[in-house]
Amino acid sequence: MIRNTRPAVLGLIGNTPLIEITRLDTGPCRLFLKLESQNPGGSIKDRVGLWMIEAAERQGKLAPGATIVEATAGNTGLGLALVARAKGYRLVLVVPDKMAAEKVLQLKALGATVHVTRSDVGKGHPEYYQDYAARIAAGTPGAYFVDQFNNPSNPAAHEESTGPEIWAQTAHAVDAIVCGVGSGGTLTGLTHFFRRASPSTEFVLADPKGSILADYIRTGTYGEAGSWAVEGIGEDFVPPIADLTGVKHAYEIPDAESFAAARELLRSEGIHGGSSTGTLLAAALRYCREQTEPKRVVTFVCDTGTRYLSKVYNDNWMRDQGLLPRESFGDLRDLIG
Ligand code: PMP
Repeated sequence: MIRNTRPAVLGLIGNTPLIEITRLDTGPCRLFLKLESQNPGGSIKDRVGLWMIEAAERQGKLAPGATIVEATAGNTGLGLALVARAKGYRLVLVVPDKMAAEKVLQLKALGATVHVTRSDVGKGHPEYYQDYAARIAAGTPGAYFVDQFNNPSNPAAHEESTGPEIWAQTAHAVDAIVCGVGSGGTLTGLTHFFRRASPSTEFVLADPKGSILADYIRTGTYGEAGSWAVEGIGEDFVPPIADLTGVKHAYEIPDAESFAAARELLRSEGIHGGSSTGTLLAAALRYCREQTEPKRVVTFVCDTGTRYLSKVYNDNWMRDQGLLPRESFGDLRDLIG
């Protein structure tokens, strides 16, 4: 029997657990992690996929079976693919060619059509992934271009779900929230919620070294972006949807510190997060250890570490990137020599 109700998997998005870190030095503070890795698609972006698609449905922008188009290198695509599949929409994604093969395979398994384009070209180039996606949407009748960097339903997902969940789970006592910025949806939605619910709650930006955002928050200006290996956060521009006015402190975290923090989280607490989780945890630990008063601090496990087994959790890759010291091969040399 087929019952034509809302697919049950969509009910598993959100209401993620909040747990306390107990085996890392958090100074005078208590540090809590919200496990966004527990969403059915494995990341914080499932919320945004659901919110943006259901808002488009309410606004009459999506007819049954219509085509959804987005440009994304990561978790937003997986969130959209999960929701589009469950609701019977076609999904076309444009991804830059540096994206991990596992993610493309997972997107295809979920039924998405994936166009791989060049990652070495910038805005204005016909093969730039955002422009490519906009062209596909314009050329497909009835298509809906999601455009997460300009879509108000992206921060709304966090203002209406992530924020209230944290507020309830901390029993209305949270002194600081440590957040990263990719599109800025999480930070914007949370600062807007807490501005009303708890204006004294401080927001702390965790930014990969090389991104322009931490500098922009401190000085109001920014220079040339560098490069960084952490995925999903850090930008070379301020996304239109991002409202950074609520941020009090910003930390720039080098890749080596982010990756070490992610690995330490798995070793000490048994929690398997991705590389951006390492950046957030590293910034949260720095913040906690700098405090002189006890504070209650919340940060996120943004996505599951299984997506990064060939990188963060692969010693050979880490050594090749210069993120782990080379081992000495004394024994081997003895044998050869
Ligand atoms: N962490 C990961 C792994 C992500 O994929 C993203 C989204 N790009 C973020 C954090 C940041 O989320 P937001 O887009 O809401 O700023």
